[in-house]
Amino acid sequence: MSTFKAPKGTYDLLPPDSARFLAVREAIATPLRNAGYGYIETPGFESVELFARGVGESTDIVSKEMYSFTTKGGDQLALRPESTASVLRAVLEANLHKSGNLPVKVWYSGSQYRYERPQKGRYRHFSQVGAEAIGAEDPALDAELIILADQAYRSLGLTGHRILLNSLGDRTCRPVYRAALQEFLRGLDLDEETRRRIELNPLRVLDDKRDEVRKQLVGAPLMPDHLCEACKAYHEQVRELLTAAGVRFEDDPKLVRGLDYYTRTTFEFVHDGLGSQSAVGGGGRYDGLSEMLGGPALPSVGWALGVDRTVLALEAEGVRLELPATTSVYAVPLGDEARGVLFAAVTALREAGVATDFAFGGRGLKGAMKSANRSGARLALIAGERDLAEGKAQLKDLESGEQTEVPVAEIVPEIQRRLAAQG
Ligand code: ATP
Ligand code: MG
Repeated sequence: MSTFKAPKGTYDLLPPDSARFLAVREAIATPLRNAGYGYIETPGFESVELFARGVGESTDIVSKEMYSFTTKGGDQLALRPESTASVLRAVLEANLHKSGNLPVKVWYSGSQYRYERPQKGRYRHFSQVGAEAIGAEDPALDAELIILADQAYRSLGLTGHRILLNSLGDRTCRPVYRAALQEFLRGLDLDEETRRRIELNPLRVLDDKRDEVRKQLVGAPLMPDHLCEACKAYHEQVRELLTAAGVRFEDDPKLVRGLDYYTRTTFEFVHDGLGSQSAVGGGGRYDGLSEMLGGPALPSVGWALGVDRTVLALEAEGVRLELPATTSVYAVPLGDEARGVLFAAVTALREAGVATDFAFGGRGLKGAMKSANRSGARLALIAGERDLAEGKAQLKDLESGEQTEVPVAEIVPEIQRRLAAQG
């Protein structure tokens, strides 16, 4: 123990569990790379104003959850609470959208920071892998992203995730719906804050998790009943493409993102093994965001999947990932001369691609063999003075306990043979 602890709402990723987090990130990235998405990395902090505009002043994220600060130089910055605004800012700044190759398809992986009330699955520092397809309006693109997320979850062995799907309409039909919803909501018995939300961000009220609010929302006007012809046709195509791809989804007419530049397709991935923090990922179309950031009209769609909650979902389903072996061979030198010889053998083995570790710290045989067993290695490579005098080392199978001699010059090929034979 030290005097210090990780800050409230955060936790450290430590081996061996951290390997699962890497595997989850990799599993989400693989289908994206395979579909033409290029890796993008943006700073962990940006101008507060970018998030205020790009996420929205009226959202909880900006109004309550942001870590904002003033720098020594007087700049107002914030740790990123999400990455879509940053990614779009970067794409516009580098003029990637003018490359003549639309949509610009990018993916990212990284930390996000939100000042939330910490609980299981809800942290102040968490990690997302996300994808954005910028500059094309095509239902196949919306479908592609949903299919890629589904592939990622399935490649991890998850079966309990569900896809919730909705359309939020566009500039034509949403304002009409918004007004109808506001009128309905103003007639309900709601607290001060929620009443304010009716005026600022009425769609968000549909997302209220409290029972006393939910009860009153029965009979609320729903977006799918108010879609214009163009939005209806677009949404129908997304649904058909998903169905044709064999991806199951559920229509959820109350699923919302409360901001005006979120348009048409919106979706969430939920997992029922997670209790109240059930969303493992979410996304949708944001055709108006580029203009909000001072860019040209660039219809776009994207998602962000939570790595922490995906790991929790794997735990909830009892899925055990096939993780790459950490150590195959553990070298145990007895005496100074053996140290030199085995250290050289370890380097040669590693160069040959064999995961190898070494008993550091001049340990005795007993302690070193304990470490060998704990390392998960299949073979221990042991040598003392007597072995070396004969130009030999000992190779011990840590499962069967069987021990054989190997000439020092043959260590690398013999170990490769043994590991290959064991599969
Ligand atoms: P929630 O409704 O649970 O607050 P959200 O709508 O704020 O989620 P998004 O902003 O859409 O979530 O982020 C996408 C994903 O990132 C979520 O589905 C979730 O898996 C993950 N996520 C969001 N906030 C947190 C957090 N505080 N801790 C851990 N994961 C998070
Ligand atoms: Mg949230």
